[in-house]
Amino acid sequence: MTSIWLDGRDAFASDPFEPGSSYDTVVAGAGLTGLVTALLLARSGQNVLVLEARFPGAVTTGNTTAKVTLLQGTFLSQLSRQYSQKQVQAYVDGNREGQAWLLRYLDEQNVPYQIRDAYTYAASAQGTEKLREEVSAATTAGLDMEYVRDAGLPFPVHGAIRLADQAQIHPVDVLDALVADIRGRGGSVVGGVRLQDVTGGRPATVHTDHGTVTANEVVLATGFPCWTAGCTSPSSSPAAPTRQQCSCRRTRRRPRECTSRWNSQPTRCGTTRGTAAGCCWWAGTGTT
Ligand SMILES: Cc1cc2nc3c(=O)[nH]c(=O)nc-3n(C[C@H](O)[C@H](O)[C@H](O)COP(=O)(O)OP(=O)(O)OC[C@H]3O[C@@H](n4cnc5c(N)ncnc54)[C@H](O)[C@@H]3O)c2cc1C
Repeated sequence: MTSIWLDGRDAFASDPFEPGSSYDTVVAGAGLTGLVTALLLARSGQNVLVLEARFPGAVTTGNTTAKVTLLQGTFLSQLSRQYSQKQVQAYVDGNREGQAWLLRYLDEQNVPYQIRDAYTYAASAQGTEKLREEVSAATTAGLDMEYVRDAGLPFPVHGAIRLADQAQIHPVDVLDALVADIRGRGGSVVGGVRLQDVTGGRPATVHTDHGTVTANEVVLATGFPCWTAGCTSPSSSPAAPTRQQCSCRRTRRRPRECTSRWNSQPTRCGTTRGTAAGCCWWAGTGTT
């Protein structure tokens, strides 16, 4: 089934892919994560190439429920059970800043979005206890969340929690704005080209199914931490790759240590073709 965001969209007009070219950074994956990363790099003056195996928004971003909210099911209470209050607060603060950044950006770009209250509801009496725990975790983290009996739904619920003034977006309109902005800053966004492998150090050689380019940095924003052996799936299906296709190849040699940038986690990958892999960055968003 095609999502309402992708339904009726024109085919993506790709920039040309130019084998042999060199870039400051190659970003693999043109979902929200990859395109925001590429834009920030392009803004900082970098020469950026985005490589997308399908088309922007093809996998998760174009199929989400399109909420931009700090209420994410009952996630905060789950986090609170596992992590310290400091870590939960850092998660909330990061989400708050990410939400604010995106809405500021949409204002600047004249991309419409809607402000709405966000709800999580309980379908059973047992679920209400989880809702109360969520309100408690959220309140501790400084969110003005409240328990309500009526979520305004056309079916009965056992209770709900509300966080006022969250947002909903059209994800593909957002991606369109990001692509245009990246291009306006000299970057390229190429569709239909799959990153398959990265070899060498700095610059690294980026292998794709359409030839190679070089880059000082490679950002994996592919929705899955796929790398080397994990990225060679020939599938052109829009379905998300399976865990097996994306599992990192393990070898006895240790990967080169990478220092985290932009608070992303370096991938924990093995070597490729007998050469220590260059640093690669796993970028992703934490959401519902
Ligand atoms: C059902 C569902 C609903 C969700 N709803 C929300 C929501 O309402 N709000 C929210 O904030 N979050 C939501 N999320 C979380 C969502 O995952 C993130 O918000 C965000 O859309 C993820 O973007 P991304 O760029 O990391 O991944 P993606 O959008 O999946 O982008 C990854 C891209 O990488 C490409 N790619 C993969 N492998 C390669 C390769 N080897 N070479 C080149 N390109 C490659 C893919 O084709 C894809 O376009 C939802 C998730 C799901 C599953």
